[in-house]
Amino acid sequence: MTYDTAIPAAAALLKRDTAISQPAFDGRMYIGGTWVESADERRFERRSPAHGHVVSTFPEATAADVERAIEAADAAFRRGPWPKLKGAERARMLLAVADGIKKRVEPMSLLESLETGKPLAQARGEVSGCVDLWLYAASLARTTSGDAYDTLGEDMLGIVLRQPIGVVGLITPWNFPLWILSQKLPFALAAGCTCVVKPSELTSGTTVMLMEILEEAGVPAGAVNVVTGKGPSVGQPLAEHDAIDMLSFTGSTRVGSLLGGLASAKLKKVALELGGKNPQIVFPDCDWDAMIDAVVFGVYFNAGECCNSGSRVLVHESIAERFALDVVERARQVPVGDPLHPDCKVGAIVSENQLGEILGNVEKGVAAGARLRLGGKRYDAQGLYLEPTIISDVRPDMSIAREEIFGPVLVIIPFSDASHAIEIANDTAYGLSAAVWSKDIDTCLTVARGVDAGTVWVNTFLDGYPELPFGGFKSSGVGRELGKQAVEDYTETKTIQLHIGARNNWWLPRPAA
Ligand code: NDP
Repeated sequence: MTYDTAIPAAAALLKRDTAISQPAFDGRMYIGGTWVESADERRFERRSPAHGHVVSTFPEATAADVERAIEAADAAFRRGPWPKLKGAERARMLLAVADGIKKRVEPMSLLESLETGKPLAQARGEVSGCVDLWLYAASLARTTSGDAYDTLGEDMLGIVLRQPIGVVGLITPWNFPLWILSQKLPFALAAGCTCVVKPSELTSGTTVMLMEILEEAGVPAGAVNVVTGKGPSVGQPLAEHDAIDMLSFTGSTRVGSLLGGLASAKLKKVALELGGKNPQIVFPDCDWDAMIDAVVFGVYFNAGECCNSGSRVLVHESIAERFALDVVERARQVPVGDPLHPDCKVGAIVSENQLGEILGNVEKGVAAGARLRLGGKRYDAQGLYLEPTIISDVRPDMSIAREEIFGPVLVIIPFSDASHAIEIANDTAYGLSAAVWSKDIDTCLTVARGVDAGTVWVNTFLDGYPELPFGGFKSSGVGRELGKQAVEDYTETKTIQLHIGARNNWWLPRPAA
């Protein structure tokens, strides 16, 4: 399937659910329950990185628009009704949103694929997967609770309430736009918070589409607001504004650290999901075929534009050459190209800028003495494609072994034994995830306990469930998303102490003589 034949189909699918004009999805901002243009009516466009066509346009928010969105969220929090609703009522609306996403899997996946460059088939999996995140959050809206202490003595009862923290600013990146938003928004809403969302300017489409679903589901005006535009002008106020109580950010470690610093200086709560340089650690006794498949999947899924990308493989030195030959052979066969083609596994890189960064990293590695075994160049001049790339003979001190590349680039580093593998694994600033491949339980547990990582996969890679917390050690982030604490993270506790019976006076004045 080529883009020329796909785009009419794409536009038709988009048209079915939204008022758009071909070929673009013309999104608007959603502020205080109203669909609005920016105050100065300026718009920006997004071109498909695979095909170069304009696929969507959005208002470029001004400072006044951002202010209005924050005010709307603040008013919706202070006056309600959202924070004051019963958990059951919030849950009902979150369930309705899940249902709405389910009904729009096709148009949302299509827009996500066209804006990001990711394979349409993969986008379908992600959008469908978001349904479960909203369902899980709905279950927590009814079950998250405080605590009570009946152990404080005859005259005292302690009650700990969990109250929504307030207005939350959500800033999301371009690599998994709807998925990452769905790791945050339904949980903040389940807690009773109100939100202002700023999606990446490259991929605002499904965030805006989601607002249509929220509106239909009956989520009250002002509970969620979306502002579109550039990071520094539109995102930064969400870290600094006095009316914002919490910032939840996913993106680069550089921007996360900047925004986290600004928000912390104003004593706001901060949650950060940042980058990774995630090692898969391979021992000679592993299930070889399963491991090779997981390594190829781990690094080329989403073209490697994935915080959890398995971008470093640490291989026992006795099998390093066999591993390199086999992984090159398998990687050569991965279908790269038009994301709309049903067989595509690796689509386009999100932007020319990102593509340049990736190639620059590869060049740096080769200049430092590493060996390019596969790829390392553009795949097709028509779109922003990169060949799956493999680099061996990498030393742990090289920049390609330590810095996040965020592209389809695998680096292979040999190790001598488990403690050496753990030492190399931990020798970066990051600590998001890791995997260990071995049939020996002692080896698996030793590595799993030893690596600095928020998630460790044993004989598997990249699985995820709403029930399991996700987040990073060290420079990979602050806090965790998902898991049974996901809603609690958007709350404050309030301690209430109730005295029972007569007071034991501190001091009684003596009766007058
Ligand atoms: P960025 O950090 O550049 O952008 C993330 C978000 O922040 C975007 O919405 C962006 O807006 C916004 N932003 C950028 N600069 C500012 C600023 N000065 N003030 C406020 N907001 C700003 O990351 P990318 O989008 O380029 O994503 C790639 C990086 O994100 C990788 O390093 C990756 O590891 C990390 N990441 C981590 C994930 C995790 O879960 N740990 C998940 C996904 C990505 P705009 O795009 O409009 O500039």
